[in-house]
Amino acid sequence: MKQKVLIHICCAPCSTSAVERILTLYQNPDLILFYYNPNISPLLEEKKRYGELVGFLKTSYGDRVYLERGEYDHDYWYSLVEPLKFSGEGGLRCRMCYYIRLLKTFNTAQKLNASSVTTTLATSPYKNFDWLSEIGILLSKRYGIEWFVEKWDYKRSIELSKKHGLYRQNYCGCEFSAK
Ligand code: SF4
Repeated sequence: MKQKVLIHICCAPCSTSAVERILTLYQNPDLILFYYNPNISPLLEEKKRYGELVGFLKTSYGDRVYLERGEYDHDYWYSLVEPLKFSGEGGLRCRMCYYIRLLKTFNTAQKLNASSVTTTLATSPYKNFDWLSEIGILLSKRYGIEWFVEKWDYKRSIELSKKHGLYRQNYCGCEFSAK
């Protein structure tokens, strides 16, 4: 049976090498890309990153992938991370941020009948890979959907981003990281 893989996408640059690799891991899968990043502030920046992704996918994959955009519920996101706002980049605030995004990702995977889930958050060496793995395993058990993740090739993502002239943001996304 054809695999239906849902990939949580944080931004176009991180998606480049991850999608390339996932296409080699699965034979001709149905790919759903789920852009859900309520952490990004301001909204204009979220839209800019989304627009960049749309352009990249169109030129690289055409109709081969299906893109779903999650709601920009920044107030909800903020209410959950606010108590952890002083923990600093890489701290517990980020762990909560991963959890919020992956929870919605699994929820969406369930609605769309996806068989496997992963995230492009694992492309960046600045993200805590162990935390991403743990959260994915926890949610995988809860939802009964396969979870897989690798440290996607960061160097390759830079190469591909340059090749496609992609906008590479200089902060992670939230108002705290922008400071
Ligand atoms: S620094 Fe990045 S991962 Fe951490 S809370 Fe902000 S947006 Fe989320």
